[in-house]
Amino acid sequence: MLSVADALNAILREARPLLPVSVALADTLGLVTAEAVVSDVDSPPFDKALMDGFAVRAADLSASETRLRILEHVTAGMVPTKAVTAGTATRIMTGAPLPEGADCVIKVEDTRIEPAGQSIIGGTVVTHASGQPGMNIVRRGASINTGQTVLPAGQLIRPQEIGALAEVGKERLVVHPRPKVGILATGDELVPIGSRPGPGLIRNSNEAMLGAQTQRAGAQPVLLGIARDNAAELRQRIAAGLAYDILLLSGGVSEGTHDLVPAELAGLGVQNVFHKIHMRPGKPLWFGVWNPAQAGSRQTYVFGLPGNPVSSLVCFEVFVRPCLRRLMGFQPAAAEPIRARLVQEHVAQGERPTYNPARLEWGADGPSVATVRWHGSSDLQAMVEANALAIFPGGGATYPPGTLIEVMPFDRPTDGSI
Ligand code: AMP
Ligand code: MG
Repeated sequence: MLSVADALNAILREARPLLPVSVALADTLGLVTAEAVVSDVDSPPFDKALMDGFAVRAADLSASETRLRILEHVTAGMVPTKAVTAGTATRIMTGAPLPEGADCVIKVEDTRIEPAGQSIIGGTVVTHASGQPGMNIVRRGASINTGQTVLPAGQLIRPQEIGALAEVGKERLVVHPRPKVGILATGDELVPIGSRPGPGLIRNSNEAMLGAQTQRAGAQPVLLGIARDNAAELRQRIAAGLAYDILLLSGGVSEGTHDLVPAELAGLGVQNVFHKIHMRPGKPLWFGVWNPAQAGSRQTYVFGLPGNPVSSLVCFEVFVRPCLRRLMGFQPAAAEPIRARLVQEHVAQGERPTYNPARLEWGADGPSVATVRWHGSSDLQAMVEANALAIFPGGGATYPPGTLIEVMPFDRPTDGSI
């Protein structure tokens, strides 16, 4: 049986970024750039006032009183018409271009007008403020110059990147697209979540959960409903699911008489990469690729996830999410676990490495983690209390409080900062 690390490597060897496409800027949040973007303007495009006040020559200011004749009033969006010379000032508002000759702005709070109550232009501004060139202004091109790179390829697009791209006029952007993820639940015992289950039946909770995980990973889920444990139906529904970038199948990959998924995948020519991993929960995981031989053509990555809800959720976080990140152009595709201090003793049992539901907290002295009471792979309620998975090596051992263990947080930022 493959280790988690070997299985992850096998997935990432197969998965390649989706071909870049041009997307409207407003739809790129959470995606990764596939082109470098160069500025078509200086930013700011002119020397600009950062305060409401008076544009003056710093050399005119003195520690005692300074009196300057007011030339004109310039607000944001206007262009000054008069140069500031010795003994003069221009009234200026935040965001307006600095007039020629001026090299700083005195803020309005440090000034008064004389004679009081007169029209400002032609009046005198009186100040006791001193100042140096550059005070309360920002120079043209201070943040970026025409021709400079605003954003390289391979960058996560967050709201601030959207703003910076809008500033340089990028209405559309070349990005790795959002993968489309087909989700097909399998099982004779499943009923839609809107029905009350009859004897022996349960609700199809995995489809909604996997859809939500897909969405949170930045991809686009397509819910394909429930297929029955019947070879012909499975084959037909799986074949339709191969239209997506990733196909997630839930259930039917274990050893039971009704676990028909691997045989039907093989029958459809989906090439198996591995089946079963040395991990708890998640042992029955099946992974394969459809259309692997045709280099350059579209591939479908197929995950046969175990039907038990916690297994399904954990396999998504550990294996499907890195695969999605690779398709979306994220580097690195798989986030490293973080290390946190165990709050209470934990007794790990069993042969296989265990991903145990846990609560991770960020305290003054770093991250700490407590395992959540957990009744195994069907106990989704334990996951509701959890915000992380605590990873214990196989073989079983007692871990005293204070032990540093590896933890995979859910909801970690997509920029790879933790
Ligand atoms: P399987 O992997 O098909 O053997 O299913 C393992 C367990 O997970 C069984 O108890 C199933 O009833 C349960 N299960 C399978 N599919 C789902 C699903 N879509 N939603 C909730 N539980 C499921
Ligand atoms: Mg089943």
